[in-house]
Amino acid sequence: MSLDWAAIDRWLMGEAWVGSQIEQHLAMLCQRIGPRWSSSDDERQAAAYICERMEAAALADARLESFPLDTWEHGPATGTVIANGQVADGRPIDLLPLLYCPPVDLRGPLVDVGFGMPHELSAVRDQLPGAIAIVNLSPEPFSTPKPLADRLRSLRDAGAVAALVVERKSGGRMEYHSATEWRTSGELEHPLPSVVTSREDGALLRALAAAGRRFAIQAPSRTYRAAGTNTVADLPGAHWPDEWLVIGAHHDTVPDSPGGNDNASGTSVVLELARVLSLLRQEQGVAPGCSIRFLTFGAEEQALQGSYAYVARHHRTGPLPRLALNLDELAAGPIKGVVLQFPHLRPLIQRTLDTLGEGLQCHVLAHLDASSDWFPFARRGIPSALPWRWRFVGRHPDADFHHEPGDTADKVRPRELREYVGLLARLLLRLSQLPPAEWPANMLCVDDIEARLKDELGTVPRTM
Ligand SMILES: [Zn+2]
Repeated sequence: MSLDWAAIDRWLMGEAWVGSQIEQHLAMLCQRIGPRWSSSDDERQAAAYICERMEAAALADARLESFPLDTWEHGPATGTVIANGQVADGRPIDLLPLLYCPPVDLRGPLVDVGFGMPHELSAVRDQLPGAIAIVNLSPEPFSTPKPLADRLRSLRDAGAVAALVVERKSGGRMEYHSATEWRTSGELEHPLPSVVTSREDGALLRALAAAGRRFAIQAPSRTYRAAGTNTVADLPGAHWPDEWLVIGAHHDTVPDSPGGNDNASGTSVVLELARVLSLLRQEQGVAPGCSIRFLTFGAEEQALQGSYAYVARHHRTGPLPRLALNLDELAAGPIKGVVLQFPHLRPLIQRTLDTLGEGLQCHVLAHLDASSDWFPFARRGIPSALPWRWRFVGRHPDADFHHEPGDTADKVRPRELREYVGLLARLLLRLSQLPPAEWPANMLCVDDIEARLKDELGTVPRTM
C-alpha cells in the first residue's frame, strides 16, 4: 500500500500544532514538580507523569524501569576570608560545589592561576603546595583548549588542595559544572575538590589573592547509592515489528533547576511525538513500518547513568536499533537538521530529510560527544543522532540557561517545540517505512569506538 505523504504531512503538522500539549508538559515538569534530581521523589513524580501520558496516548507497555544509581547531595557551600588566623569581617561568599565534589572543609592561601595552563602554573609553582587555586572555567583563548578536568589535575599534581572555579556567565549566576571526564567510563572521581564562584566574586577573590590573603571553604556533601528511573513506551511497527527506531530525552535536572531548556524541552517533544504518531495510527490508520520506542532517562546529569543502564539492560546482545535520536536543550534554537555521531547513515538521512522539503541538513560530528544521552548508545555501536539546534549559527540569547535556577519554562519557545514535533514525526515515520534492505549495514565496532575515544581524550570538543 503506498502512503499519501502530502495528506500525512498535513495531518502531522496540524496535530503537532493545534493539538499540542507542550505547555501542559512544561507547566507540570518545571512548575508543579520543579527540580528533578535523579533519585529524588520529584524525579519519580516526573517519571510517573510521563508514563501516565504515554498510557493516555495508547502506547504499548508504557513502564518505569528503575536502575541503581551512584548519587550525591550537598549542603550550603560558603567561603570566608581569613585574616590573622580568624574569619575576617565582610560577607561570606556563596559557592557551588562542582557535581560530585567530595566534602570540603579547608583553609589555604589564595593563588590566582588564570586559566590553569602550564605557563601560568609554572609562574606560581612555588606558591601552589597547600594553596586554593583560582582558575577560570573557560579554557584559555587562542591556545589549544585543555579540558577543565585536565587543568584541575595539573593543579592537584602541583600541590593545590582545592580550586575556586570562576564562572564564565555574569551577574552572580553560577551553574553546576562537572570536573570529571565523561568520555572515559562515566568516571565520578574528582581530580581536585572544586567549587564554583561567580564571575564577580571571582574578581574580588583575585584581588584578595594579589594581597596575599588566606581563604576558608566549607562545602559539605556526600555520595550514596540510590535508584533512578527511566521510562519506556512503544509504538509497534506494522511491517517490521522487530526493527526499531529509538527516540529519547532526559527528564532529570541538576539540583535547584526547574530544567526548562535542560530538559523539559526535549522530554515534552518525546511525549508529543508519541502522542501524534499514536493518534495518526488511531485516526488515520497509518502505523509506523518498524517499531518506535519512546524513552526518557533519569540521571543524565549524573554522568549519563540512566542511559548507560538502559543500554546495558536492553542492548547487551542481539540486534541493535537502526537509529537512536536524542533530544536535549531544544529551547536553544529551532531545528536545522540532524547531526550524526557516525557517518554511514548520512546519505540515507539526507535523502529522507530532502523529501520533507524543509531545507533540513544532515551533518556528522567530527568527535565522539559525551555531553548527553546519545553517548552510551554510540559507545555500544548504535547509530546515534541529535537534532541540530544552534551550534555555529548562534543560540537564542535568552535561552542560554541549563544548570541553574534561571532555567525556567518561560525560556522555552513552545512554537519552536511544535515545529520540532511536526518535523521529527514526519522524519521518524518516513524512516520507519524504509524496508530493512535499504538501511546500510551497521559495521560499527565497539573496540574501534573505544580506541577512537582514547585518541580524543584531552581535547575539548568543538561543540562545547
Ligand atoms: Zn541536558
